[in-house]
Amino acid sequence: MENIEYKNENAWLKLDKREVMDFSESYKQFVSACKTERETVSFVWDELVKMGYKRLLKPEYAGGDFFAVNDLKSILIFREGKTGIENGINIVVAHIDSPRIDIKQNPLYEKFDVAMFKTHYYGGIKKYQWATLPLALHGVIMLKNGEKLEVSIGESSDEPVLVISDLLPHLGRKQMEKPAREVIEGEALDPIVGSIPVKDEKDKTSVKKAILSLLNEKYGIVEEDFISSELTLVPAGIARDVGFDKGAITSYGHDDRICAYTAFRGLIDAQTLERPALVMLMDKEEIGSEGVSGSQSDFLEYVLEQYMKKNGINGISVREVLHKSFALSADVNAAMDPLYPEVFEEQNAAKFGHGIVITKFTGSGGKYSASDASAELVFAIRNLLNKQNVPWQIGELGKVDVGGGGTIAKFMARRGIETIDAGPALLSMHAPHEIASKADLYSSYLAYKAFLKSEIKI
Ligand code: MN
Ligand code: MN
Repeated sequence: MENIEYKNENAWLKLDKREVMDFSESYKQFVSACKTERETVSFVWDELVKMGYKRLLKPEYAGGDFFAVNDLKSILIFREGKTGIENGINIVVAHIDSPRIDIKQNPLYEKFDVAMFKTHYYGGIKKYQWATLPLALHGVIMLKNGEKLEVSIGESSDEPVLVISDLLPHLGRKQMEKPAREVIEGEALDPIVGSIPVKDEKDKTSVKKAILSLLNEKYGIVEEDFISSELTLVPAGIARDVGFDKGAITSYGHDDRICAYTAFRGLIDAQTLERPALVMLMDKEEIGSEGVSGSQSDFLEYVLEQYMKKNGINGISVREVLHKSFALSADVNAAMDPLYPEVFEEQNAAKFGHGIVITKFTGSGGKYSASDASAELVFAIRNLLNKQNVPWQIGELGKVDVGGGGTIAKFMARRGIETIDAGPALLSMHAPHEIASKADLYSSYLAYKAFLKSEIKI
């Protein structure tokens, strides 16, 4: 008899556990090594060069598959399909920036014989979660002589970490009465960067000067160089398995490098593609997809225009190509947290370990600011995943009046691309260490690969 009831089943029951575990190991290496958008771009870039991909915007390009890098912080990877670009492209777009704590442009100061860095947090964080954690410093500094210094300090056990202090409970009575968003204020997210003084010319001691001369001797940095730097604090250390069964992974930056990795692997592992396929790994999603490397920029249009020009494709405009294209907005959703059931509506929220989450619409309140996929597109995706036996479920970001949020979907949809959100559901999203199910990781990989290969039609 036909099964007429919708069942949301646990993905572990459908998947090959060995395959899931193997794939998870390679993801753990990736997410442990790539903690910023720049590091992610350079990882993907290296992989592509090894596979013989050429850069579209460089003289080396002579037609065919390509990649294109924007501002060293976002990267587009394109593969040709059985049909040409005239019939549209299958696109998976993910973001490679994550919430974190950026260093200010004039950061160094000293108080009570402790040297500190002033910071400015990036993205939606619960500020109190970032104190008393070992933090690593990542980024670049443009030195006075024009040389670019790549920085990564605090990842290996013989390197120092930077730490933001917090009040002891004994003196924290007033602090503990504050609302959580004020427990630690934005200007109090400054890490300790030194504590050994030198004597200066007036025979006073200075820790700040000691740190400046140490940085100068070791790296050739002068204080003004910080002004031309992009330095960021991220949780130090590597991704780890969670649970006695090792069914989940805790790591910094699952949002959204879990989608970036699975989309990238989906694209390069797919055999024949029915249509051209494009994976976009974008920057600045956590602060509204703004700026030259964000999804609101016209880099996509520019790249397609250059591709068509270099391959002599005439008679169709970039705009027509986009209007014939489909996109998965590959971003994470919230899994129902057993400790906080009250914010979820169980029948429509995503369950941890139940496969990739298809989210018809985002937004908040009365669907405000939502990108809303059509029933026809939802059907096409549902049908595709069912045919390919990919574990999937539906999701939403919390109860109707409780939460909400947005993704890149609306910036793709705005271009005339039929777009829907699809990605794994996390626990502790935006925390220093987020939690992802390995079954959801692998389901996402299978889903993106299936979509990129497919001849989707609505
Ligand atoms: Mn995200
Ligand atoms: Mn996010």
